Amino acid sequence: MSETIFTKIINGEISADIVYEDELCLAFNDINPQAPVHFLVIPKKPVATINDITEADREVVGHLTFVAAKVAKEMGIDHEGYRTVMNCNEFGGQSVYHIHLHVLGGKLLGWPPYTDKPKNLE
Ligand code: 5GP
Repeated sequence: MSETIFTKIINGEISADIVYEDELCLAFNDINPQAPVHFLVIPKKPVATINDITEADREVVGHLTFVAAKVAKEMGIDHEGYRTVMNCNEFGGQSVYHIHLHVLGGKLLGWPPYTDKPKNLE
């Protein structure tokens, strides 16, 4: 797969507001936050989409959720609650092709998470 902006963040080639890092993953604040708290948890291994996850990625993919909850607790949004989202491909709204778990919180979030008529119902 071609290199994305997230690989550059992992390699330190471009800066990000990093909130957590370990050997498997990195978490950093979203550059265009959609809620008072909005950070992304990404694997250090580049995997383009959820569709590309293999058996070998099971540990790291589970780890993303573990880290999301850990950082959410540290940020104090665990009690009121928050949302985790992983978008996939065009209809899912994915724009960066390196899987990432969005963590959104700090306000009451709407549901469903779209305002326009979904493309598949046009
Ligand atoms: P997607 O649309 O693929 O689900 O989410 C990609 C997210 O990455 C978007 O919320 C976008 O704001 C964020 N993003 C894109 N480029 C950068 C960047 O260079 N730095 C940071 N911190 N976030 C980025």
